[in-house]
Amino acid sequence: MPDDSSDFIRHRIRQDLAEGVTDTVVTRFPPEPNGYLTIGHAKSICLNFGVAEEFGGRTYLRFDDTNPLKESEEFVAAIQRDVAWLGFSWGETATFASDYFDALYGFAEQLVERGKAYVDSQSAEEIAATRGGFTEPGTPSPYRDRTVAENLDLFRRMRAGEFPDGAHVLRARIDMAAANIVMRDPVLYRIRHATHHRTGDAWCIYPMYDFTHCLSDALEGITHSLCTLEFENNRELYDWVLDNVDVNFHPPQIEFSRLNLEFTVMSTRFFRQMVERGHVAGWDDPRLPTISGLRRRGYTPEMIRDFCRRVGVTKQENRVAMELLDFCARQALEDTAPRAMAVLDPLPVTIVNYASDADETLAAPWHGKHPEMGTRPITFGRSLAIERADFMEEPPRKFRRLSPGGLVRLRYGYVVRCDEVVRNDAGDVIELRCTYFPESKSGSDTSGLKPKGVIHWVSRQSGRAATVRVYDRLFSVPAPAPENMEAELNPASLEVAEAIVEPAVAAADAERFQFERVGYFFKDPVEHSAETPVFNRIVTLRDSYRPEAT
Ligand code: ATP
Ligand code: MG
Repeated sequence: MPDDSSDFIRHRIRQDLAEGVTDTVVTRFPPEPNGYLTIGHAKSICLNFGVAEEFGGRTYLRFDDTNPLKESEEFVAAIQRDVAWLGFSWGETATFASDYFDALYGFAEQLVERGKAYVDSQSAEEIAATRGGFTEPGTPSPYRDRTVAENLDLFRRMRAGEFPDGAHVLRARIDMAAANIVMRDPVLYRIRHATHHRTGDAWCIYPMYDFTHCLSDALEGITHSLCTLEFENNRELYDWVLDNVDVNFHPPQIEFSRLNLEFTVMSTRFFRQMVERGHVAGWDDPRLPTISGLRRRGYTPEMIRDFCRRVGVTKQENRVAMELLDFCARQALEDTAPRAMAVLDPLPVTIVNYASDADETLAAPWHGKHPEMGTRPITFGRSLAIERADFMEEPPRKFRRLSPGGLVRLRYGYVVRCDEVVRNDAGDVIELRCTYFPESKSGSDTSGLKPKGVIHWVSRQSGRAATVRVYDRLFSVPAPAPENMEAELNPASLEVAEAIVEPAVAAADAERFQFERVGYFFKDPVEHSAETPVFNRIVTLRDSYRPEAT
């Protein structure tokens, strides 16, 4: 068992096993198929599947598909793909709350027969308006005292499709003065004449979450029903339902805190809006903290699981720093990602003392600390490119890159000196003319020259044009207010660079690279090809490369 298994949930499970409360561990991950999964869901996935794995139990992937208006097979498929990609398996088949619609209906009739549920014919607005507040009790519905026979008849006719949407609901008959507002006769079923993605038109009444969830847990023999803290008040209802029907299993509901991340909002509804309004390119836009977005950005399942492990499981609400997610990516990439050079904002450099028809091949290690990864060939010649920000005409004292008359080493290449700055009519620098020093070759330098720094570069003759997407935070503030979302979007969350990369990178099998001094990048899984390379920035380097302030 891993030594990080000390959170309160694992503690509880260990205790239940020791005391014989249960002899196995069965959990479930219960997404509603109304959108794509987020890194928030990943926390719940890692917890539910993780504890079952650790204690030799099993986990259901159960779709909570009780709202036909918002749910679809597209989302079911995407969710299965994401859970599997994260490295978890749910046995033979996924389950669906809709698998239990017959059973749930039977339990509802039991409540009716026991006088524990009634058909209310008030509108949704009336029901909401009579629920009361924290200090005032609710007002009983005029239909609350219908007879069992009348309720049963109406409920059966609701099911048979005799009434339009909204004409009646089935409500639990609990206590309109309960301190916990959730207990003031909650709605259990509503009429919805809508085609369900799995049950088609078999049903026109659909059970509510609070009724469905606890019973699905019981039917599956869930030993620990783990959910997020906002359901704490619903626990009383969870227990009430199970205590008032004939079901022989009663799982405990245990709450933990939701994952919130800085610089983003964590909600399916919000992501759907972002997609629908065109603020992002789709559910897998690499700026979204959806699992599909993170995957497309270049995150691996290991990174996400590592992140969830470090976040841990507590009852404290908090907002996790984006740096932690970045850290998990760097941590995994540091030793595994081959190094290469890419120039994102190319400034042409001509080596005036290098013959125009000649070039030479130099060897550069794929990874400075891992010689076993071998080397890649890089081409040095007359026509090169450096990063525009690595040149300054009037540099501050500490500038360690290239400036007129100054020396700099081109990484794995030679020391060069800038002799001339070429401008266009508008006065922009369009080329640097430099001299190189043949005896300063990297690895066999006998020149005695003392360049100020080392910069990256690419041969313009052999380099490949590449589209490089530089992703940044989706929002410009750490805690975006949901009501102000559009105003707080970061306008620079995506910059597209027409870059030049080493040819070896486009051809290599590796998918993730460190572009030296620039960041870690991933070959876009949809658009990249060896002919037209497309890279996504996963994360910056820790000592992030930024042009010095002037
Ligand atoms: P959203 O509004 O993002 O869809 P949700 O809670 O409605 O969130 P569900 O599809 O019902 O999402 O979630 C399935 C499971 O994932 C639930 O058990 C829920 O508690 C858990 N979950 C969802 N979001 C988070 C989060 N941010 N952190 C931890 N667990 C989460
Ligand atoms: Mg949801």
